[in-house]
Amino acid sequence: MTAPFTVRSALERVREAATPDDPFREWMTAIREKEEGSSGLNAFLSLTDPGVELPEGRPEGQSLRGVPVAVKDNLATRDLPTTCASRILEGYRSPFEATAVRRLREAGARVVGKTNMDEFGMGSSTENSAFGPARNPWNRERVPGGSSGGSAAAVAAGYVPAALGSDTGGSIRQPAAFCGVVGFKPTYGRVSRYGLVAYASSLDQVGTFGRTVEDAARVLEVISGHDPRDATSARRDPVRLLPELESGVRDLVVGVPEEYFHQNVDPGVGDACERALAVLEKEGARVRSVSLPSTRYGVSAYYLIAPAEASSNLARYDGVRFGSRADGAASTREVYEGTRARGFGREVVRRILLGTFALSAGYYDAYYGRAQRVRGLVARELRQVFASGVDFLFTPTSPSAAFPLGERVDDPVRMYQSDVFTVTANLAGIPALSVPVGTADGLPVGGQLLGPHWQEGRLARAAWVLEQAMNGGGG
Ligand code: GLN
Repeated sequence: MTAPFTVRSALERVREAATPDDPFREWMTAIREKEEGSSGLNAFLSLTDPGVELPEGRPEGQSLRGVPVAVKDNLATRDLPTTCASRILEGYRSPFEATAVRRLREAGARVVGKTNMDEFGMGSSTENSAFGPARNPWNRERVPGGSSGGSAAAVAAGYVPAALGSDTGGSIRQPAAFCGVVGFKPTYGRVSRYGLVAYASSLDQVGTFGRTVEDAARVLEVISGHDPRDATSARRDPVRLLPELESGVRDLVVGVPEEYFHQNVDPGVGDACERALAVLEKEGARVRSVSLPSTRYGVSAYYLIAPAEASSNLARYDGVRFGSRADGAASTREVYEGTRARGFGREVVRRILLGTFALSAGYYDAYYGRAQRVRGLVARELRQVFASGVDFLFTPTSPSAAFPLGERVDDPVRMYQSDVFTVTANLAGIPALSVPVGTADGLPVGGQLLGPHWQEGRLARAAWVLEQAMNGGGG
């Protein structure tokens, strides 16, 4: 095996090159060759033309100068289409750029392309893409997870050292786990959502993928910080993670929620996570068993709240303002109906129907109102656990490793169950991270770390400890 492609190795390559365009052209050629060949992963929906001269800021102080990154196709970019893997936005080009992408470019990073995803972020396998499923680089017959499956696959395949994704209910952490890379979902409000196409606005958060903890943290530092263009962006300075990355876990208490280890976790996943816990303990963390009883209602609450918000957010796709339009319509109504019927995929239609139903006058209290109460309960339980002296929680990221393509597409409830361990962080708005903790039957397993609001630093520290153990053969 060659050394993994990291931000450091990319920076070094750029420094040695005659011009920063040379390595970029090489990287783009390698991606294109691989993706167009028979072992392609369908990780990208569009690729940057390496001949295009991209605007760059002043080179001095650019922490990501010349570093190639991949960007999920629900983040607006001016130079490439932004389709959210939906027919309804096919060919759509944004007149503005997402803040997270703008900050990456200002730091000198170069966007290699836009990555495949579940349509509008709705899914857990990247099979709900209108442009065909993405594949898992560990085994092409397996899903890469979703919805940010293309970004996870691109990092795992070594195309790029880091990528951007979005996480509404697990869409960064679950694909990171399935592809054996690091996925970081920050605290709600840490990163601007400006230019992120809205799925469920109270849950959506932009985050990062890295081949290493350091890279996921480094890119998160760059994209974080207050943005006046997003009213939910917190008035905080960019987060600083790298200085404390190697501080260890000696002073920390790790909580292990009982409920997360017994809920139909595959034995291989459970074993890898137990071994990871033993590593944390050996490195000095104190392990404490905790209980989060509302967890079992989390998925049900999430799958009412997220579709409810989606049904409202997706009302804007009417064939008039964005993307494609049905032709031959005789009235405005027919334009709307034709465009939406043709443009939205099955899962998106299901979510819009579910969400509209949950919000309808007669059922609002029974469904949406109740789901909101569960959300409050989940958040309160987490607050209490963290207030009782627990510094962070450790759980499996997903109950299973990457499942075969096609296995769950016709069983939405089973697909939704992939998210049992990840939705809680979004419901509560807390930061969470997935880090590789080993393999089960030759497929990667992810361990999830959850922390109190704004405590990304602790998660990065604990993840770094686990990563060292894995690399040192200790895990
Ligand atoms: N799988 C979840 C869903 O379909 C989460 C997706 C996401 O985080 N965007 O809603």
